Amino acid sequence: MKVAVFSSKSYDQEFLSKSNESHRHEFTFLETRLNRQTVPLAQGHKAVCCFVNDELNAEVLQKLSDYGCEMIALRCAGFNNLDLVRLKELGLTAARVPAYSPYSVAEHALGLILTLNRCIHRAYNRVRELNFSLVGLTGFDLQGATVGVVGTGKIGQVMVRNLSGLGCHVLAYDPHPSPNCQATYVELPELLAKSRVVSLHCPLTPQTHHLINDQALRRMRPDALLINTSRGGLVDTVAVVEALKQERLGGLAIDVYEEEEELFFEDQSGHVLQDDVFARLLTFPNVLVTGHQAFLTQEALSNIADITMENLTAFERGEPSGREL
Ligand code: NAD
Repeated sequence: MKVAVFSSKSYDQEFLSKSNESHRHEFTFLETRLNRQTVPLAQGHKAVCCFVNDELNAEVLQKLSDYGCEMIALRCAGFNNLDLVRLKELGLTAARVPAYSPYSVAEHALGLILTLNRCIHRAYNRVRELNFSLVGLTGFDLQGATVGVVGTGKIGQVMVRNLSGLGCHVLAYDPHPSPNCQATYVELPELLAKSRVVSLHCPLTPQTHHLINDQALRRMRPDALLINTSRGGLVDTVAVVEALKQERLGGLAIDVYEEEEELFFEDQSGHVLQDDVFARLLTFPNVLVTGHQAFLTQEALSNIADITMENLTAFERGEPSGREL
């Protein structure tokens, strides 16, 4: 089957090509994101393969349908970028990769906590300038600290296990608590008020948009660290900037940002940054940003490629994969 693979970087191409050896789809690899300008590139393909920041809104879906493109294979778990209502109306099929390595994301979140808490990002830069001063680098022991995990699905539960292994007291909030989760479930306001670290692991939906807003930030401890490896839209970034300026928040580490579509996954080093909120974030010593790389492990890329291939092949054969949306 002919597949236009949008937002495909060298690492995607490597793992998808390897997995395709046993499927034999015909790929057109495109580095560009899918959006209303780039959608004509899908012409002549029966399927498109997309990632987190590809725009699958009503207009793009209509164009895909007009071009005879019938299948959307998402190389990710989240599908907040896809207009599900329009998808069904147009009779298109979309399938995702619901799980590929919850460890990849949970371990990155843990790395962000350790780095932000112990100021390793600052120490790295200081030492390279032969500045061995320790002033301003004081952290706290995670052993015995209360850590709040918001969302205890696949990733959240690995996070709870990892944090428990460090001796943290783990609180959790999830509207659908899991009986297997070793955390103490509380309501969100209590979690926010008690936690020294708050880590977000719930999906972005209309209900969770700006879950961490000014009101939520004011419930949090002024020394709390906020960690977001889930989706940028969970956090009201303008409210976070205010909280950081007023020293009502101890620190922020994010792998995702609500306006990341225009920034992430590309080398922007030669461009003038136009996003003033993001620019302000980068000026805080207690802010750490990675560019949506929490998933980026060999195991995750390999699993993403294999499951995406299975989804495409199942569609081609007219069989359900069980991972359709
Ligand atoms: P999952 O579906 O297994 O779990 C999500 C959990 O969130 C569920 O238990 C659900 O009940 C809970 N939830 C729903 N609404 C909630 C709310 N209002 N408050 C608290 N919890 C709520 O998903 P997962 O595989 O654990 O992934 C979680 C999220 O991580 C994904 O939605 C995705 O956005 C993000 N993610 C990020 C990366 C990355 O590279 N940064 C990679 C993969 C996934």
